[in-house]
Order: sequence, then structure tokens, then C-alpha cells
Amino acid sequence: MIRKTIKCDLLVVGAGPAGSVAAGVAASHGLDVLLIDKKKRLGEKPHCGEFIPQKLLAEFNLSPKIIQQQVDFMETIIFQEDLPRKSSFHPRLNGISNIGWGAWPGEKREEPFEKAKDQLESLLTPSPGYIIDRQVLDMSLAKDAASNGALVLCDARLLKQYDQSFVVRHQHQDMRIEPRIVIAADGPNSAIAGSMSSITPEFLVGVQYQVPLTQELKRTTVFFHKEITHGYGWIFPKGMSANLGLGMLAHKEGRPKQTLDFFLDFFIGCGAVKPGIFSRSIGLIPLSGIRNEIVRGNIMLVGDAAGLTHPVTGAGVPQAMISGREAALVAVEAIKRGKAELLESYEKLIRSLYSGPLNHAVAKRKLMTGMWKSESMKSILSETWIAFGGYRKRVRERTNDGK
Ligand SMILES: Cc1cc2nc3c(=O)[nH]c(=O)nc-3n(C[C@H](O)[C@H](O)[C@H](O)COP(=O)(O)OP(=O)(O)OC[C@H]3O[C@@H](n4cnc5c(N)ncnc54)[C@H](O)[C@@H]3O)c2cc1C
Repeated sequence: MIRKTIKCDLLVVGAGPAGSVAAGVAASHGLDVLLIDKKKRLGEKPHCGEFIPQKLLAEFNLSPKIIQQQVDFMETIIFQEDLPRKSSFHPRLNGISNIGWGAWPGEKREEPFEKAKDQLESLLTPSPGYIIDRQVLDMSLAKDAASNGALVLCDARLLKQYDQSFVVRHQHQDMRIEPRIVIAADGPNSAIAGSMSSITPEFLVGVQYQVPLTQELKRTTVFFHKEITHGYGWIFPKGMSANLGLGMLAHKEGRPKQTLDFFLDFFIGCGAVKPGIFSRSIGLIPLSGIRNEIVRGNIMLVGDAAGLTHPVTGAGVPQAMISGREAALVAVEAIKRGKAELLESYEKLIRSLYSGPLNHAVAKRKLMTGMWKSESMKSILSETWIAFGGYRKRVRERTNDGK
């Protein structure tokens, strides 16, 4: 039974980075904002490798307290395809430019991976950024929203959506919300985005363990192997522990957890990781790029709900925060001027910012998927992974035989 009705200028559904930034910005401009999240404790169980690029910290004036470790380089590791058996080590990857050991003067492989050199090949690329504490980030953005004046409710789940009102269950009690504008920041499985489109986006499944390290690692490592179907694994270090995870297609032969366990054993074996798991998480990584429609009526989609996650790298925190901020600014203008049609300008802005890189990434993702079974890991990556020059080349239409 619905006990009360709340009217507000702006309802924000989801207190991840997109929703909390949106709520904070809108409230700081004087809107009457309600931010809800179904989690019992905001920020709990984030599913994230926790890497953010350096410039995001400055752009949002984020507290250095969220930083766990600074990193300057990303190491891309390509495992031999017959990983469990020993195979000969090739110092050069045939046919791939811009790759080789020690590609960056003065930089060497991380010491534990040196021991496994007969099973992998690697490339270093600059990738300045931070491994942050996602729980602390999410919590601090929600607190900022509250201190700017937003009403923040956790354990508040959006249940139903009607034309002009929304039913939310807050701590076992249902209430009706009647907002003037809605920002849907409810993540990759967004129910609001689902109600706007019959097209279901594709996802990779991301599984991750936080594991102890034997020694500190200086950089992020991503690793590729055919068994990590259509995706990749990562080790993102934070002092003496790291996020060890992978994103891959889940299908009948591809089991993400078993595959992660295999690589956990491998990294324990080569001396990088100590036995033991501090925490586990699982989440979805959207692959389909920007949704066909991100504004309808008085609703704007932001972050993962809008499909802004990068379909090749899986990174989505910067786009979530930027889209949240921009949607909030448009909402402020629309309410001040009493013009709901201004929301269309949010769609135009987001497409001008992200259509280019994300459509390119979707094309690269499709190419990667198409090549996966028939070609070697090295030739797939030379065209489809961001560390290689070939990533920048436009994707040519392939003929039916895949050539
Ligand atoms: C395994 C993994 C690793 C990743 N690693 C990185 C990384 O290293 N760097 C990076 O930039 N990105 C990474 N990403 C992507 C990144 O986590 C997302 O892009 C980012 O969280 C998107 O933020 P968001 O606010 O749009 O959505 P979310 O963070 O998903 O927040 C959505 C919120 O909505 C709430 N919600 C959902 N439904 C409802 C409902 N019905 N009612 C109320 N509340 C609801 C949820 O509880 C949640 O708090 C990773 C993703 C995965 C899965």
C-alpha cells in the first residue's frame, strides 16, 4: 500500500558515480532533489577494477583520500595460447609493430612476470592514473549530494514506473514519487532504459577478487588469453594487494569464475600473488555502446544506463561522472526556464562527446569477436586493443568469409 507521495524537481535513480554527481550538481544549483539507491549501504559491493585516469581527479576536484595507488604505465600481456604447457618464448611478435620487450626505455617487466617469460609476451604503454577506493568514492559523492541539499535514501528501490509517477519501496514501505524530471543512473541493467527500448544490450561478465601481493607492483597489467573469451584480465595494484579480475563472455564453454581461478593459480605460481582472497565481486560490462535514445519526455539516461561504458576497455567511471554532471546542468536550466524540451540538448551534447570514440570501439569489439576463433591472439590484438597502433585504424567492412 502506498502511504505517501513525494513531489520533487528531480528524481535521480541510482547512487553510483553518475547518479550522485547528478544529484550533487542539481542540488547545488537549488533544485529540490531526491536521490535513491536500492543498496542498504551506499557504495557497498562496487564491482570495479578501480582504475581512473589522472585527469578525472582534477576535473571533479576529487579528494586525494580516494587514491590507493598511482600508476604511470599499463603492461599488456599476451599469453601463449597453450598456456598450461611450456612453450618456446619469442622475443618479437611477428607482424605487430610497436611491440616488444622493454618498448619504453628504462622500463622493464614487473619482476614476478619476468619469471614467467616463457609463457607470455608484453608491451608497456603510458597510462597515467590512479587505483582508487570505489567504495570511498561512491560514498563521498553521495555525501556531497546530501550536503548540497539532496535528500538521499538508501534501501530505496524503484519498483514501478508510470507516466508521471514512480513507485519506490523504501525500507518495506511503498511511496509514490512525482518528479518534474528524472535522471536514470541505475547502472548497466537499467530498468528505466529497458522500458524505453526493446533492444537488450550485450554484456561481458566481470568477475574480480581482491588478492594479496608478494610485493608491490608499479603498474596496471592487463592480460589476454583465448580462454578469456572476447575479453581480458587485469591486475590493478593497490599497495600490497590488487584487484585481479576478468571480463569475458559467459557461455556454455566459457565460465568466468573458473577462468579467473585458473589465472589466480597461475599468478600465485609465478610469484606475483599470495594465496588468499580478501573479497569477491561480479558485475556486468555493457558492450553495445550508446543507447539509441537517451532522452525521452522528462527522463535522461546517464552513465552505464545510457551505455557509455567503453566496449573494449570496460571503463565507465569518467563517462558516468561527466554525463551525470551534464544531465544535471540541463535539468537545472529546463526547470528554471520551465522548458522540458531543453532536455534534448543533453542528448546532443552526449552524442557529440562520445559517439565518435564509442562507435569506433563498438566496431573494434565486433571485429575482435569475429576474429576470436580463427586468428591468433596477437593478430586480433594488433587491430583491436587500445595499446596498439592498429586500434586507431577504421574498421573496414569484412566480407562474409571474414577476410
Ligand atoms: C568487474 C568490473 C570492473 C570495472 N572496472 C572499471 C575500472 O577499473 N574503471 C572504470 O572506469 N570503470 C570500470 N568498470 C565500469 C564501472 O564500474 C561503471 O561504468 C560505473 O560503475 C558506472 O557508474 P553508474 O553510476 O552509471 O552505475 P553504477 O555504478 O552501476 O550504479 C548504479 C546504481 O543504481 C542502483 N540501482 C540499480 N537499480 C536500481 C533500482 N531499481 N532502484 C534503486 N537503485 C537502483 C545500484 O544499486 C547502483 O548503486 C568496471 C565494471 C565492472 C563490472
